[in-house]
Amino acid sequence: MILIREIRDLQGLLQAQQAEGKTIGFVPTMGALHSGHLSLVEQAGKQTDFVVVSIFVNPTQFNDPKDLDQYPRTLEADLKLLESTPCQLVFSPKVETMYPEPDKRQFQFGELEQVMEGQFRPGHFNGVAQIVSKLFEIVKPDKAFFGQKDFQQLVIVKAMVKQLNLPVEIIACPIVREASGLAMSSRNERLSKEQRENAALIYKTLCQARNNAPDLSVEEVKRQVVEEINANAFLETEYFEIVNDTDLKPVLRWDDPVNKVACIAVFCGEVRLIDNLVF
Ligand code: AMP
Repeated sequence: MILIREIRDLQGLLQAQQAEGKTIGFVPTMGALHSGHLSLVEQAGKQTDFVVVSIFVNPTQFNDPKDLDQYPRTLEADLKLLESTPCQLVFSPKVETMYPEPDKRQFQFGELEQVMEGQFRPGHFNGVAQIVSKLFEIVKPDKAFFGQKDFQQLVIVKAMVKQLNLPVEIIACPIVREASGLAMSSRNERLSKEQRENAALIYKTLCQARNNAPDLSVEEVKRQVVEEINANAFLETEYFEIVNDTDLKPVLRWDDPVNKVACIAVFCGEVRLIDNLVF
């Protein structure tokens, strides 16, 4: 496995792979890797010949400077974890390398970027689109692997690929959870033991809600979930929405003939956790 910091070094290596007819699989991450990230790398290894993982904490997608500051950076440990995966190349550039000048591009995703994460993290998805489009441009992957954990991000990335006509296939990978059911996240490292135990209630409540769904209205299920989570002293719901998985419009009735996904953001102390469950 090779660690690369500079774009030209990366491109030289990748061109050599492509000249040999190898397909490139790409897993963009912000590091502080856990089994969720590694599952994407494993999937990339199954579907492509040469796997690139990027580790880059992208400043333009943080709407809260404190969150950016506190985001864990653990490159050494990340490299160690990647050693026993199909990852062949790690690209970990400096901020100045990715942004030699401010990126002024404004993407337009309409309603997709106005709801849920978009509503509470203004500018977040524009930052995601900026970095992912830059990375796609540099790496030129055949396939890129994203987790369903960040469901709305997945929808936005697919929309961006379509808008820009990028020749990359986006592969969605399932959410990896801790034994308690808590969705794995780099941010879980910032939870105390007690907070982490209580945060398991998020997934438990989503599962219960799915079970109750046929007997209660959508509105009743939504109310119940928020009440149940907020009744826990460690947790405070920011939003809970049940949406159509394609256009992210709210689902009004269970018999709406659309695929439904329930998406939630919850504060556990200062740490903001997101999760979702297909209904
Ligand atoms: P991040 O480093 O948080 O930007 O995440 C990098 C990629 O890993 C994104 O595509 C995430 O959706 C994915 N990811 C993060 N956590 C998980 C998880 N628990 N299960 C599956 N994929 C995940």
